[in-house]
Amino acid sequence: MKSFEAAVDRLSRLPGIGKKSARRIVFHLLSIADDQVEELTDAIITAKSQLGYCKQCYGLSETELCKICSNSQRNPDQLCVVASPETILKIENTGKFNGRYHVLRGLISPLDGIGPQQLTISQLINRLTTPNETIQEVIFAFNPTNEGEVTINYLRQRLRDYPIKLSQLGYGLPVGSDLEYTDRMTLNKAFENRIKLNPEAENS
Ligand SMILES: [Zn+2]
Repeated sequence: MKSFEAAVDRLSRLPGIGKKSARRIVFHLLSIADDQVEELTDAIITAKSQLGYCKQCYGLSETELCKICSNSQRNPDQLCVVASPETILKIENTGKFNGRYHVLRGLISPLDGIGPQQLTISQLINRLTTPNETIQEVIFAFNPTNEGEVTINYLRQRLRDYPIKLSQLGYGLPVGSDLEYTDRMTLNKAFENRIKLNPEAENS
């Protein structure tokens, strides 16, 4: 049953699906009508072909520029830097932030072999130094973890010579917590009480 094993093998490579679940899914797919299987594969293929990354912020988007980047009502002076597109959804739910975003697609983590080159850091710097950009404040909204701290320290160094206010989400976020699971109130507070990282930029 080569084709059965091949299907199980493919499915079990997906996150959170072991061999056992993969077998159960394949048995289920074999038991349902062909058109139902087609609907499923079509939905996956459509999502895959239509969803891409915004060329400016690297958030998820069905168009070249995402809805946030192309929205002229958003404050162009503030840029919130996040590790993943999921955090954007979370922050948008608070309704607290009206600026734009930049997704790093991860955090610096030497133990996992992730350095600045694997992230969209050079794209961030390019964006901040583009002549028609008016970004005055960059807010780092990372999980309060070691990787978050290492990434902030690195970015502070890289952005040292630019007249841009830098801040990070404030106290109230428990150390080691995950922004995806932080409640709205706490995230609101963290935005309000954000910590200035370079107060000297205030006067420049
Ligand atoms: Zn965008």
